[in-house]
Amino acid sequence: MTIDFLKRELSSVLSKKRYEHSIRVLDTALNLGTIYDGDLNKIAIAAILHDYAKELKRDELIKIASEHFKLETQDYISNVEILHSYASAYIAKERFKIEDTEILDAIKYHTTGRKNMTLTEKIVYIADAIEPKREYPHVEKIRDLALVDLNEAILLEVNKKIEYLIKHEFIIHTNSIEMRNWLLKIS
Ligand code: FE
Ligand code: FE
Repeated sequence: MTIDFLKRELSSVLSKKRYEHSIRVLDTALNLGTIYDGDLNKIAIAAILHDYAKELKRDELIKIASEHFKLETQDYISNVEILHSYASAYIAKERFKIEDTEILDAIKYHTTGRKNMTLTEKIVYIADAIEPKREYPHVEKIRDLALVDLNEAILLEVNKKIEYLIKHEFIIHTNSIEMRNWLLKIS
């Protein structure tokens, strides 16, 4: 399966704006993959498919999550922002026959992160957060850090994300907290 094929498939299910975001994530992830000597093929597939389910209807997202990721998603079932990651991983497996767990996990955890992430997971996670059109406080710092220390970049990103979620009284996924604690422990 080629990246061009997956790009065409993606462009048929996403709006132009979201498709272009995915392409920027792909480019950012490949750059980081080169810097950190990652598996560029796995990184490319995960990056291009990470938001595949982003424009599915709410009911469809809830259906996929509750049928296929019941335990993991039951506390977050009203949070579509979290569910699209699971649904994208599900479609990668079912429609595109991707079996590689490193690719599937990089898609599945791209929104929340989690502890003990592989290099592929880390790269897709942070590429999504720092692609060139992302704008939020401290993104420049996180972008610069990502080029020299992936763990530090993710730690700063998740700290800022948690601050934002608290400020707006949004739910914080426990995977994000566990990722932060893990990064604090290993850095
Ligand atoms: Fe996403
Ligand atoms: Fe994304």
